[in-house]
Amino acid sequence: MCATLILKSLQFLKKAVESNVSNKLGTSLVNLSELPAFKNESNVLCISVSVDGIPIAKSGSTAFWPILGKCDQLTKPEVFVIGLFMGEEKPNNICAVIADAPARSFVKQCKNFNAFHGCERCITEGHYSGRVVYPDVSARLRCGLDYIFQKDPDHHTGTSPLVELDLDLVHNVPLDYMHLVCLGVMRIVVLKDIISDSEYVMFLRLQCAMYILLSNNASNAEWNRYASKLLHDFVLMSKELYGVEFLVYNVHNLIHIADDALTYGSLDNCSAFPFENHMQILKNMIKKNDQQVNQVAKRITERRTCGFMKAIVNEKVVIIKSSDKIIYNGITISAAPGNSCFQTSLGYIVQVKKIVFCIEPALSMLVCSILEKANLPGYVCDSDKLGIHVVKLESTENVNLHLSDLYCKCVLLPMDDVHVCIPFTKPIE
Ligand SMILES: [Zn+2]
Repeated sequence: MCATLILKSLQFLKKAVESNVSNKLGTSLVNLSELPAFKNESNVLCISVSVDGIPIAKSGSTAFWPILGKCDQLTKPEVFVIGLFMGEEKPNNICAVIADAPARSFVKQCKNFNAFHGCERCITEGHYSGRVVYPDVSARLRCGLDYIFQKDPDHHTGTSPLVELDLDLVHNVPLDYMHLVCLGVMRIVVLKDIISDSEYVMFLRLQCAMYILLSNNASNAEWNRYASKLLHDFVLMSKELYGVEFLVYNVHNLIHIADDALTYGSLDNCSAFPFENHMQILKNMIKKNDQQVNQVAKRITERRTCGFMKAIVNEKVVIIKSSDKIIYNGITISAAPGNSCFQTSLGYIVQVKKIVFCIEPALSMLVCSILEKANLPGYVCDSDKLGIHVVKLESTENVNLHLSDLYCKCVLLPMDDVHVCIPFTKPIE
């Protein structure tokens, strides 16, 4: 489980999860042994459960508290609704929630992110330097038994109800990268003005490490060790550049986040992103300011009844959007900048020049130019190994490709007279 909640009535949760999961398993369960990221050979089904609040009115404190689940062994792990609650406060039958750092400390009954003993992964003792910082990057790591026996009494504020579950409360409560990196460290870095050369070198370490930890290489021991080293370097370099005040909870935890990839594979497997996205879908189901829970429950039932969800789960969906745009499995393809660059299954970087539509959309043909590629100079490692390249957009060679020849979409960033091409870590499945 990568995010967990306990209800006072665990039976309710068990029942709701069971009925939702059994609904979905019939058609899309894959062989567990085919999931290297989980190395799960014991026929254990991994269910992630999330609870978080989302305000539904511009003013006032009324919020929705959906309980969402996700079964990680499904070929397309969709988020499903287990239960809905609406009110002014957190639902009172839920006594624990895991999501961001404050919620984790609440559910684990451990010190908060701004306490001296707040690190959930190591026994480092922070100190106050305008705010609580954790300069030590080599403190002894915590383990699940340390937590249960409260070996470090300064870390605990009480006894968590989660100890009743068969969970390693140190390693099975991931440091969600959405909150830690995307909304945390990245925000701090991006808010800085145009960065200096040394900041750029430091930033590349963070980018490269996170790229590895979000890729299929995340749980590979060698790649994982390398990503972990880059993140240690980032933390030490940031201390040199910005001073010890920079080493707050989010920055310190970068030295631990690679461990989550050893447990879960790509950090996308244990992030809050799918749940956050689903919360928005639920919120958009509310059309009027009355009986909101009923409205959402009805919309969910309608979708299940008409098989809407199944239609988009089982097959690759191809939609011709307009005369020059195609949507393949949710990915937009066109000759326009931003949607034209792809990596093929054979490793070529191509740019779509024209789409030749067929009556059967799935058979549409893409006229593409093959882009000349080279290593990105000055990158932290051999960028070719990660699939990151510099490319020239002028090309002489054109090829005709089918949609199924595309492996993943790429981002093109201009740099001098060339472009840096970064493939998305998620393939077009
Ligand atoms: Zn730590």
